[in-house]
Amino acid sequence: MPSSRPRYLIALLCGLLLAPYSPAFAQSTSQRSIAITVDDLPAGAANSMTAADILDMTRKLVGTLHDQKIPVVGFVNEQKLYKIGEVDDRIKALSLWVEHGFELGNHTFAHTSLNRVTLQAWEEEVIRGETVTRLLLAQHKMKMRYLRHPYLDAGLDLQTRREAEAFLSSRGYHVAPITMDAWDWMYAGVYDDARKRGDTELQQKLVSSYLSHTTDVFEYYEKLSRDLFGYEPPQILLLHGNWLEADHIGEVLELLRKRGYKFVTLEEALSDGAYSSPDEYVGEGTGWLDHWAITRGKPPQNTPVFPQWVIDRSRELHRQAPNPTAAPY
Ligand SMILES: [Zn+2]
Repeated sequence: MPSSRPRYLIALLCGLLLAPYSPAFAQSTSQRSIAITVDDLPAGAANSMTAADILDMTRKLVGTLHDQKIPVVGFVNEQKLYKIGEVDDRIKALSLWVEHGFELGNHTFAHTSLNRVTLQAWEEEVIRGETVTRLLLAQHKMKMRYLRHPYLDAGLDLQTRREAEAFLSSRGYHVAPITMDAWDWMYAGVYDDARKRGDTELQQKLVSSYLSHTTDVFEYYEKLSRDLFGYEPPQILLLHGNWLEADHIGEVLELLRKRGYKFVTLEEALSDGAYSSPDEYVGEGTGWLDHWAITRGKPPQNTPVFPQWVIDRSRELHRQAPNPTAAPY
């Protein structure tokens, strides 16, 4: 047949081109997707920042995400808007997110853990957290549709967890899970302090450690995903509104691209069947891959260890702070 030779050549060339890529390799490097979420808006450290600083930080963070066309849902604690003389500017920082096409969700009014207060008190915190964000979304023809649990605390017993979920559903919310988390908030406080003091050496050391730990977290949860599901479902990354991300989120995004990730909306990530997996986890807040593994009776082992020197420096700063507050999460 006249065409057999070209076909053979094409097949041979394709074979050569594809030879180094086993199906498993292709699965793990070219089919990955991830949704980016940014918590504690307008800023994790809003209580110790001026409105001008929050606005500068937001402009830089939103600018990078917008330039790179990354879909993002940001989660708001409206209590952080109420500082005398600064309310308008703090709301302006939130509105920058929606003006740039990003979606906002509810992270409760005062970052209240469902594991620390009664269900009724927590539900009131959810409702209080809706006021301004709903208005900003409505101006851009959007509705509030996601809630992120503060500290990822989703209930200490199954009855509370299910009742909270029913309440959220009745108010039009989907719970926004996370699967990847490298504790950027823990780095952020130490980074802020180094930034204020102009200690560029420490800033660089922190960024390098943050990216390295992030890589460990990605590797670990990519493998746990394959172990649990036989493939890697779309991941959901937890980041926070802070200067560390404003200055360096581009490097996190680059790291993700190099691992073969494309960026998808939270809605698209949640449409994967993995997110409907049985989940009966109760206890201290943790990621959803941990939920699913524990529900199957296989608690995750050998999770990446967070660098102790960063924890030590963070604790030292908290001791020095005039009004130490709980770490944002
Ligand atoms: Zn938070």
